[in-house]
Amino acid sequence: MPAEGLGFATRQIHAGVEPDQSHRPRATPIYLTAGFVFDDFDQANERFAQADDGYSYSRAGNPTSAAVERRIADLEGGADALLVGSGQAAVSTAVLALVGAGDHIASANSIYEGSRELFRDNFARLGITTSFVGDANDPEAWEAVIRPETRVLFAESIPNPKNDILDIRAVATVAQRHGIPLIIDNTLATPYLLRPIEHGADIVVHSASKFLAGHGTVLGGVIVDAGRIDWTATDGRYPHLSDDVGPDGRTFADRFGRAAFSAYARSVVALRQGPSPSPFTAFLLLQGIETLSLRVQRHSESAQRIAEWLEAHPAVESVDYSGLASNPFRPLAKQYLPRGQGSVFAFTLRGGRDAAKTFTNSVRLFTRMTHLGDVRSLVLHPASTTHVNRTEDERVAAGIGQGLLRVSIGLEDVEDLIADLDRALAAVQAADLLERAGIA
Ligand SMILES: *Cc1c(COP(=O)(O)O)cnc(C)c1O
Repeated sequence: MPAEGLGFATRQIHAGVEPDQSHRPRATPIYLTAGFVFDDFDQANERFAQADDGYSYSRAGNPTSAAVERRIADLEGGADALLVGSGQAAVSTAVLALVGAGDHIASANSIYEGSRELFRDNFARLGITTSFVGDANDPEAWEAVIRPETRVLFAESIPNPKNDILDIRAVATVAQRHGIPLIIDNTLATPYLLRPIEHGADIVVHSASKFLAGHGTVLGGVIVDAGRIDWTATDGRYPHLSDDVGPDGRTFADRFGRAAFSAYARSVVALRQGPSPSPFTAFLLLQGIETLSLRVQRHSESAQRIAEWLEAHPAVESVDYSGLASNPFRPLAKQYLPRGQGSVFAFTLRGGRDAAKTFTNSVRLFTRMTHLGDVRSLVLHPASTTHVNRTEDERVAAGIGQGLLRVSIGLEDVEDLIADLDRALAAVQAADLLERAGIA
C-alpha cells in the first residue's frame, strides 16, 4: 500500500507490508528459515549475481526483516534501511561501511558509552581514529577536529543520560560543507518525536532494542539511509563506493546510485561480518512499532510530570530534562522535539554516591536495570555502571556526578511511579538525618 500522505500512526501499522499471496495472512508471518528455494539453475545464478532481488539466505535478507526495514525507512523518511542484530551492530556496520584503516571519525563526546568505547578501543585497533567534540552544538568545535581523513561525523539526537539535545541542523551544515556523511543515533527520540533526515542527517541508526521494540524483550538495530549523497562527487574519499569496480565493470555508485551506501552496508559489511537479526526478532519489532506513537507520547508525558516533581523535591539538586523551563536545552527541545522530549533523563541527588545508593536500593516499582525504552520504569547509577570505565576526570567533564541517576520512565500509572520515587527519596533523607545525628 502506498504510504504517502498518510499520518504517522497509520504508517506505523501499514507501511512496508506486502501481504503473502499464498495464504493471505493479515499479520506479517515469521519466515523462520535459513534459506530460500531456487526454482532452477539459472535462478540460483541470478540471485548470487544480484541480478534478481529474491531471497537466497537469511544472512543476506529475509521477508520478515525486510518488512521492518521498509517500515522504519518509511517512518524516518529514508530511502532504504537495514535491520541488524543490535544497536551496537547498527553503529559498527554503518561506520565500517564508510571508513577503513587510516580514516578518522569526528564524534560528539556525549554519546552512548558502548559506541564511545567501540570508537576509542575497537576501531582504534583497526587503525581508525576518533576525535570527540565536547560541545557538539558548536560548529566551530567540529571544524576544529575535521581533517582530510575524516570520513564520518557521528552524534546522538537525544544523548543519554543527560537529555542534552543536539542541534542537528548546525552539525549537518558542517558535514555538508565538507561533503562528509552525518550519522545520527536516533534511539532515544524515535521517528515519532524526531526525524533527523528532515534536519540534514544522511544516515540514521537505532538501537531497536529500546522504544521500537518497546517491551524489553529483544535486541535489534537499524540503519536508515537518506539516499541523499552523490557518491560520485566525493573526490574519491569513499573509493569502495565510487571507484572500485565489480566483475561487471561497475561501481556501487553505478549500480545503486544514491542508495550505494545502504547497498554496500547490506551486501558487503553486514553480509560478511554477519550481525544478522532473527526473523522472530523482526516480528516482535514489527509488533512493537505498531504502537510506537502511543507509547512514546505517554512515555514523554509521564517523564515531563516526573521531572517537574523531582525538580521541586528538596533531596534533588538538579534535573537534566529538556522539557523543564529551567533547562538550557529547552529552546532546542522546542525546535526539534515539539511532541515531547522522550522518557530518558538524569537527576542528581544532593547526597552524592551514598544517597544514590540508598535511593537505588529503596525503589520497589522502578527496576534496577541497564536498558531504556521499556514499558517498565528503570533506574541506573551511571557513575558505577555504564561510565565505570571512565576516569573520575572524564566523568566530571561529562557531567556524570556520583549523585546522578538515570531513569527511563515506563508506561505505569504516573501516580504510582511518583509514590515510588517519593518513598525512595524519603529513605535518602532519613539516612542523611541519621548520619548527621551520628547514629548511622
Ligand atoms: C542501547 C543503545 C545502543 C546500543 O544498542 P544495543 O541494542 O543495546 O546494542 C546504541 N545507542 C544508544 C543511544 C543506545 O541507547
